[in-house]
Amino acid sequence: MAAGAATRREPGPGPGGEKRILCVGLVCLDIISVVEAYPAEDSDIRCVSQRWQRGGNASNSCTVLALLGAPCAFMGSLAPGHAADFVLADLQRYGVDVGHAVPQPAGCLPTSVVIANASRGTRTILHAHGNLPDVTAHDFELVDFSQYKWIHWEVFISKDVARHFGYQSAPEALQGLHSRIQPGATLICAWAEEGADAIGPSGELVHSDAFPPETLVDTLGAGDTFNAAVIFALSAGRTLQDALTFGCQIAGRKCGIQGFDGIV
Ligand code: ADP
Repeated sequence: MAAGAATRREPGPGPGGEKRILCVGLVCLDIISVVEAYPAEDSDIRCVSQRWQRGGNASNSCTVLALLGAPCAFMGSLAPGHAADFVLADLQRYGVDVGHAVPQPAGCLPTSVVIANASRGTRTILHAHGNLPDVTAHDFELVDFSQYKWIHWEVFISKDVARHFGYQSAPEALQGLHSRIQPGATLICAWAEEGADAIGPSGELVHSDAFPPETLVDTLGAGDTFNAAVIFALSAGRTLQDALTFGCQIAGRKCGIQGFDGIV
């Protein structure tokens, strides 16, 4: 285990006293093979390129927040071993605070093998969840929440989750799920090239079109990018409409590049 995650500590406010954004959830290793065309089963082909990339929803959103210039912290389970050292060092390289990464004494870092089809921008993900325990209530007791202006913990509805519930579009998902959320809550749903929709605290419907890049290159982490950019904007006091539009703009830029470097 690399230094940094072993001791839980509160980092204090970011530069200029700015409060941080905490993202709680998964960090994993993505092993990404970029191909020109999706391979046929039982074929033997060459990749255009291959790379290791830190992945996982909360970890990706931290990357994007850091690139946008927001002080942020990651909280989630971390396995022992080389792959975990790689993702931990990468979080630190982006300036993401890892004081609340929770080292587990045993287990494997979750890993995704990703086939990224460069000609269509699709990403096919084979995820091995591993056997890591989740963070516990006790881990949360160690967090000084006064240091944070936003805690991100799956508030957003992804199109995969919406489809799982039988919805065929973002507006349909919002209308269907609205009655299940607390009055006054905001519900946000992104839907790939259709952009994103939201219902605000007083029930107002908001939409942003997508901002397609000139060439669609890589959609891996588009949703995490969208979430981070929306949180960035909302936590800075911008309107829901502004935040949705900003989220789609930054996510669209991400779809035009491999990885995340270059979204801003
Ligand atoms: P996920 O990664 O969860 O599958 P989505 O595919 O819904 O996320 O995409 C999230 C956001 O990324 C969308 O709201 C949109 O702004 C942007 N996006 C995703 N795919 C495209 C695309 N093909 N063209 C333009 N924007 C896209």
